Amino acid sequence: MYDIDKIRGDFPILSREVNGKPLVYLDNGASAQKPQVVIDAVTRGYAEEYANVHRGLHFLSNLATEKYEAVRGITARFLGAKDEDEIVFTSGTTEGINLVSYAWAAPRLEAGDEIILSVAEHHANIVPWHFLRERQGVVLKWVDLTSEDEIDPQAVLDAITPKTKLIALTHMSNVLGTVVDVKSVVDGAREKGVPVLVDGSQASVHMPVNVDEIGADFYAITGHKLYGPSGSGAIHIKKSRMAEMRPFLGGGDMIRDVGRDVVTYNDPPMKFEAGTPGIVQQIGMGAALEYMMGLGMEKVAAHERRLRDYARDRLNGLNWLNVQGKSSGKGAIFSFTLEGAAHAHDISTVLDKKGVAVRAGHHCAQPLMDHLGVTATCRASFGLYNTEAEVDALVDALELCHELFA
Ligand code: PLP
Repeated sequence: MYDIDKIRGDFPILSREVNGKPLVYLDNGASAQKPQVVIDAVTRGYAEEYANVHRGLHFLSNLATEKYEAVRGITARFLGAKDEDEIVFTSGTTEGINLVSYAWAAPRLEAGDEIILSVAEHHANIVPWHFLRERQGVVLKWVDLTSEDEIDPQAVLDAITPKTKLIALTHMSNVLGTVVDVKSVVDGAREKGVPVLVDGSQASVHMPVNVDEIGADFYAITGHKLYGPSGSGAIHIKKSRMAEMRPFLGGGDMIRDVGRDVVTYNDPPMKFEAGTPGIVQQIGMGAALEYMMGLGMEKVAAHERRLRDYARDRLNGLNWLNVQGKSSGKGAIFSFTLEGAAHAHDISTVLDKKGVAVRAGHHCAQPLMDHLGVTATCRASFGLYNTEAEVDALVDALELCHELFA
């Protein structure tokens, strides 16, 4: 049973008011709110268990290291990875993808080599590849969406040429909620010897993910969308790919020995984690992932499917609202514009006055905005604590927008 009242009670911020109205938080795609267990883990981490990790032989350093390293196993379990040494901690997906760009792709890709991307990627899965285009002459090949606004795995595979060195694809669009069948891409790409990086920032929040089953070479997640602290995250990297990677950031922890003329590196995953990490942030992410596993990701996904269906029916009932994206296989993320002149920012300002928090803008997905023929949208993105009553609150606030701007 999915006890939504109890779950909402786990998130202290949800009981506050905004502009004199109960908060309706529908900006989960940008960042999610934190349950008390995460807040407690962070507080305890600083109040009772804090010291630097991997360094000292004193009690607190050992305790902090134990707590911090335990998160590697929790993250592996959350992602369905058998080997926790394939989990590299990052500050979020952006760092995870940049790690792959600098440490794996940059040393091996040459001018004319190709990276396949979809137009639905977040800038975090575009700009690190643009760096390689600018600096090394790598060619970016773009896969368009189908007429249903989906990414067809076959279209991705059809774009492969002998020059293709990597496919970098989102698992779920942060703008449309469209879910991509990344397993079919990975299966097809493997036959052609092409590695695949999956941006799991959104999918990992809303559905069970098993990276071993998907089989991607790289799978990146970000803690703050997973109800954990900002500055936390991880990337699952297959051991065989880790062996091909040179270090990214240099400094403490990632080395074995440093001399005047020589340096040797730690074994992965430590080889890719330089300097003092986000100790308490990662411990908080561990608490968040345990919380989600405690609820059950299947149950979370079922709850969000119900919300999606309800929201879709209600939003489609507003004939002056342009809901973007035709895909039916999607998560509970809705982007829309209002017929007439109202800008997305104006709509979000009016919604905010009603206590409804949504995002407005290009959502760090400008190639997708181009595809949709808009410069900005409003986005309502739902999470595991949202309710059908909150969908109603959104619709009521949108009706007010319509009255004001029509
Ligand atoms: N990829 C997608 C699909 C996202 O939605 C986001 C965050 O908005 C990112 C990547 C970047 O994540 P972060 O900013 O946490 O590194």
